Amino acid sequence: MRAAVYHGAGRVSLDDVPEPQLPLGGLLIDVSVCGICGSDLMNWYQDTKAPSVLGHEPVGVVMDGEVGEIRPGQRVYVHHHVPCMDCELCRSGRHTLCPNFRRSRIDPGGLAERVAVPDEIARLDVLPVPDGLSDAAASIIEPLACVLRGQRMAGVGSGSRIAVVGCGSMGLLEMGAAAAAGAEAVVGVEPRAERRRVAQQSGYPALPSPDPDRVAGALGGLADAVFVCTSNPRAIASALELAGPGGVVQLFAPPAPGTPVALDLGAVWFREVSIQSTYSAGPEDTRAALGLLSRGGIDGEALISHRLSLTEVEEAFRLARSGEALKVLVEID
Ligand SMILES: [Zn+2]
Ligand SMILES: [Zn+2]
Repeated sequence: MRAAVYHGAGRVSLDDVPEPQLPLGGLLIDVSVCGICGSDLMNWYQDTKAPSVLGHEPVGVVMDGEVGEIRPGQRVYVHHHVPCMDCELCRSGRHTLCPNFRRSRIDPGGLAERVAVPDEIARLDVLPVPDGLSDAAASIIEPLACVLRGQRMAGVGSGSRIAVVGCGSMGLLEMGAAAAAGAEAVVGVEPRAERRRVAQQSGYPALPSPDPDRVAGALGGLADAVFVCTSNPRAIASALELAGPGGVVQLFAPPAPGTPVALDLGAVWFREVSIQSTYSAGPEDTRAALGLLSRGGIDGEALISHRLSLTEVEEAFRLARSGEALKVLVEID
């Protein structure tokens, strides 16, 4: 079968790879769509695993296998990893840090014609997609789940004042999720005029630079939580200035290892600002994301700026890297 193979140093090609087999107690999925994620574009992260099949946001139809309610013909979202649900980390709610989370995986990856899902993932985090939700919208479950996990950690809720630094597809999801959670005010910070325009069209003011006075003006005070959806070290440093007393700055997109970020910690000392990071999403988060998309709380399709076929996967990655795109979706027939 065909799959998008990452060869290292940013090079992706459409290759023939071995057909995955139905795992014992698992599922075999005919993949319909799979989004390209920011982490698929982080060469330093992917290079350690190359060669590998990219993609971890697949939606498709069950071809073979039966697990619980899930039968052949069922349209499903497949999560990429699952925790054990039993260790100390799982019991304390840190499911994505569970050693089992990184060990479990789909074979060979989401950007492939077919994917094998091992029993542990099939039992815990393969979700039936309701009729009203398109494949494309369901592919947003994974990135939205990551956002919802982060917002839960940051305590976003009714009355929150939220700043989002970086208004690409993840930044837009942060803004939409915060609004859906009842945030009182949401503002974006984004240097690219085109992305600011998209944020504004979605109903959120967006400023060209992280000016604390202007952010406070837009929010009615400094932010309770700042979500940093860019790995730019200067943007990360500037986010600290946007958080108000007791506020949280949450790092969503890591800079490459060995990239120092100069932080003026004196500036946050008197405001007791916490710096927090969030990694991936667990079973509770994928269900929350599916619920929010199904209820129309977030328009998943609106985030997708480009749809390309698997045969165009090299162009899909070029677009995703270019910064011209929001979410790039690969359609697989
Ligand atoms: Zn992702
Ligand atoms: Zn665990």
